[in-house]
Amino acid sequence: MKEKNNDLIFCKKMEDREQMSTKFCTQCGNPVTRQTPQDDDHVREVCSSCGHVHYENPKMVVGTIPVFQDRILMCKRNIEPRKGCWTLPAGYLENEESVQQGAVRETLEETRGQVRILLPYRMFNILFVDQVYLMFIAELLSQDFGPTTESTEVRLFSQSDIPWDEIAFDVINQTIEDYFKDRGNAKEYHAFKPEDFMFKIKDLQFSPANGGVVGDKFF
Ligand SMILES: [Zn+2]
Repeated sequence: MKEKNNDLIFCKKMEDREQMSTKFCTQCGNPVTRQTPQDDDHVREVCSSCGHVHYENPKMVVGTIPVFQDRILMCKRNIEPRKGCWTLPAGYLENEESVQQGAVRETLEETRGQVRILLPYRMFNILFVDQVYLMFIAELLSQDFGPTTESTEVRLFSQSDIPWDEIAFDVINQTIEDYFKDRGNAKEYHAFKPEDFMFKIKDLQFSPANGGVVGDKFF
């Protein structure tokens, strides 16, 4: 658990470094400096020449729990971070794309599986990496799936064989845990009923004192 968090922090630091290397204005090419613009309460990169303010905002990640009967589809990451670990298909939303389209596209790209979105299920505010995750429950439409450039292995898992020790990120861990918990509490286990899977927003926060990520704040 702790190791995973360190990975996330490491990614964040790498991202910071990348952002810091963007030292030139996207508008005029002159150097930028980090400062708080007038009437603002955040430090931004501001162009020393034309005054353009480079705003940075959280990134949106969208994905699915692809469900096939009593199993879910997972993929083994072929890219860092957490290469070789299992995850649910998810990735950054593109411009001019709806969250539903993005989730379906990411699922196809990472698993070659075709899905139909059933309902939004979990949203996570991951404050320490400036990301918002939105995970949908989706129906996997056929058993036509397999490895891709992004995943070395793609397979269906039943609840009893989820590789809990090899899951890439806490956010994925919590999504799967919640899913099977709700499924277990469902009135009719084999019939999908949206009301059994209530949409929730969770905040994931890094808590060094607890030695990990805490995600107990529900909305
Ligand atoms: Zn400029």
